[in-house]
Amino acid sequence: MKKVYIETMGCQMNKSDTERMLGMLSHFDYVETKEPREADLLMINTCSIRQLSEDKAYSAIGLWGKWKKNKPDLKIGFCGCVAQQKGEALFKRAHYIDFVLGTHHIYKLPEIIQRVNMGEKVCECEESHSVEDDCAKDYPITRVKSVNAWIPITEGCNNFCTYCIVPYTRGRERSRLPEIIMKEAKDALAQGYKEITLLGQNVDSYGKDFQDKHYRLAQLLQDLNAIEGKFRIRFVTSYPTDISDELIDIVPKLDKVCEYFHIPMQSGSSEVLKKMNRRYDRETYAKIVQKVRDNVKDVTITSDFIAGFPGETEEQFVETLTAIDEFELDYSNTAAYSPREKTVAAKWVDKFIDEDVKVERLKRLNDKVKENCLKSNKKFIGREMEVLIENFENHKGKNVITGRTRNNKIVHIPCDTDRTGEFVNVKITGAKTWYINGELI
Ligand code: SF4
Repeated sequence: MKKVYIETMGCQMNKSDTERMLGMLSHFDYVETKEPREADLLMINTCSIRQLSEDKAYSAIGLWGKWKKNKPDLKIGFCGCVAQQKGEALFKRAHYIDFVLGTHHIYKLPEIIQRVNMGEKVCECEESHSVEDDCAKDYPITRVKSVNAWIPITEGCNNFCTYCIVPYTRGRERSRLPEIIMKEAKDALAQGYKEITLLGQNVDSYGKDFQDKHYRLAQLLQDLNAIEGKFRIRFVTSYPTDISDELIDIVPKLDKVCEYFHIPMQSGSSEVLKKMNRRYDRETYAKIVQKVRDNVKDVTITSDFIAGFPGETEEQFVETLTAIDEFELDYSNTAAYSPREKTVAAKWVDKFIDEDVKVERLKRLNDKVKENCLKSNKKFIGREMEVLIENFENHKGKNVITGRTRNNKIVHIPCDTDRTGEFVNVKITGAKTWYINGELI
């Protein structure tokens, strides 16, 4: 057996790809190690959402290159979004890399390893338009030990928001076949996973590329919901204007589908949204959020926001802060704008916001997110809720189990027994900024 170490950066999609790559390698006699110095094969699964993540990847492999001087058989693979974007140029940047594997061809990994072992340098980074190339292969998956199994349902994105690198790194939107998703879900449940999270840059576009135009996310949720047993289903991420009425209607009718929507708004200003090439304005977003709240009881709605998009004025930034209040967004991921090569907004250099202004806006944005998160958590004090336990740990000298409610609130519960993987009923007793406290009933 040979040892492989994979360093994973970035989003859940990359983490899911790593699980698949480890699964394939296990099929070809590689075993995972958490200790990079022990590995025969070192791989980095990179993220290019911000320059900082890209720089971190280069610095990590720099160290690996030094190790290779004393261990010439060591193989180094550069994978993921930065690989997809930069391709062969990476060999010039770091001559010790043995293979470059973009996001579209991770299923070629076993073949690539064979070629690399024969002494070839390999680069697989062409864009794929076929679900067969990058999604549909039936290899084992080495999932992270957890209660939740991530299952990608779409790859890529067609939206071309002006700040976003995803269409260039993950390609055009491709939906995975329902039978493959169903099989992966059943396999994960048989292995003891208690939650299935469907993953995609835009899950609401699921099925748009199928010949059968009637099989969309709502139908997939119904099919998954019909699988026997006690488990939960989640889905992320939703593009606001792609959330169909059919989906909003079906969620409360399916007992396993959780009351949780992640709907990135990105800016509270309609003018900025237009420059971002988002296909909605503030009013449209407000209507969608309201429709979800009206139909799905106790729903948690989370979002993403960018501070300091090129040309953003102070007034426009303040509209983002007021949007978080007005739409009662329960939590939001935040980031300062980072220009990404190839994207439209990266060319608007004369409109770039000064770094110190971006940092200051990001701080105010984070303060607003914290304030609303606490407000949202307080709403549940006194309620009885079902929690799926994910962890058992000693927290500040006390034994606690932690888990999530159906609507994705993290709950800390005093308990001396490890109940990971169980559904427990809890009375909510208090609220902190990032979690709520509860007691077993
Ligand atoms: S919809 Fe999301 S993934 Fe697609 S281009 Fe826009 S921000 Fe990027």
